[in-house]
Amino acid sequence: MSKYTVDKNGYYGPFGGAYIPEMLYPNVEELRKNYLSIIEDKTFKNDFHQLLKDYVGRPSPLYFAKRLSEKYQTNIFLKREDLNHTGAHKINNTIGQILLAERLGKKRIIAETGAGQHGVATATVCALKGMECVVYMGEVDIKRQAPNVARMKMMGATVIPATSGSRTLKDATNEALRDWINHPLDTHYIIGSVVGPHPYPDMVARFQSVISQETRTQLFTHTKKEFPDYAIACVGGGSNASGMFYHFLDDPEVKLIAVEAAGLGTDTEKTAATTKLGKEGVLHGSRSLLMQSPDGQVIEPYSISAGLDYPGIGPQHAWLFKSERALYAQATDEEAMQAAKLLTQLEGIIPAIESAHALAYLEKQTWKKEETLVICLSGRGDKDLDNYMKYFDL
Ligand SMILES: *Cc1c(COP(=O)(O)O)cnc(C)c1O
Repeated sequence: MSKYTVDKNGYYGPFGGAYIPEMLYPNVEELRKNYLSIIEDKTFKNDFHQLLKDYVGRPSPLYFAKRLSEKYQTNIFLKREDLNHTGAHKINNTIGQILLAERLGKKRIIAETGAGQHGVATATVCALKGMECVVYMGEVDIKRQAPNVARMKMMGATVIPATSGSRTLKDATNEALRDWINHPLDTHYIIGSVVGPHPYPDMVARFQSVISQETRTQLFTHTKKEFPDYAIACVGGGSNASGMFYHFLDDPEVKLIAVEAAGLGTDTEKTAATTKLGKEGVLHGSRSLLMQSPDGQVIEPYSISAGLDYPGIGPQHAWLFKSERALYAQATDEEAMQAAKLLTQLEGIIPAIESAHALAYLEKQTWKKEETLVICLSGRGDKDLDNYMKYFDL
């Protein structure tokens, strides 16, 4: 058993657990009792991998980025999650959870979404399976993310605005939890990252672990080695990073690097750099690191990339940070945008701005000619074109 994955009580070192209201206990307990036996079942595995193959388009390629490698005088491979159906890694998790919901006999799916990416990935698998889908989204985010709202509606989902508080992600999360309390029997709540009460962080990491599982085989084909010197990923809640790290956690020769969004800088209030500025506390049902004011109020995070402006990180990441198994770095808006431009012009790949934070780490260290780096390209940049147009005056 790895000391970096969840223990039998639902913890990663001091982090994790299930800090939930009494009324949610039956829902979470049903999941906790059943998730491992379901996802380790042979027919579940077959169904999961069949859909990943035929519907999502996996395995996603591991691409040797030749011109980018020349620029940094090293060997850079990109794990191409941007080529997945719906454009990012999030679909790996929603496919897994919809199959699990089916096995649990659920008829209705709820989700919360901030930027709308997880809402779209959820609405997609609900259409695929003909399940009712209700997505909670802050009223402010609904206005900011109109194309994703349209995608969800086109796929038959109901999008319900959260109108309380700051009318953003955390209010949508509260509404989703309230819904789940009121529908304990027929409804499954699909959480979109490695956050929330146990068993969600472990369950989502297992579904996303296909990223590093494929990487090992593919890297061997390219280099005759299964292990890179570095595995690098961006972190919002931490699901693509957890997936990229999963099958390397117990191999200390693989250095793990997670890149948070520094926004306008970690010395400003416009940032989402949780490990740099966060403190221990409870957020969305688990103990982790989160950004909070001295009196314990959760601070609204900021990043140019909507997918990274989450005020915490999942409990496994808090543990990887505290135990120093992984290095947590930060990239500003400007650094990420320049990295996105560089990748586009050297390789003809427009990355999601989230993923560009991982690419920005290339500037932060000197690399050796013989080293091998794998960077998780978590998503494609089509959704960010408006941002790129404004930023670069295109
Ligand atoms: C949502 C998203 C992220 C951040 O989420 P994690 O759970 O940290 O992976 C990163 N990249 C893309 C493309 C996303 O859509």
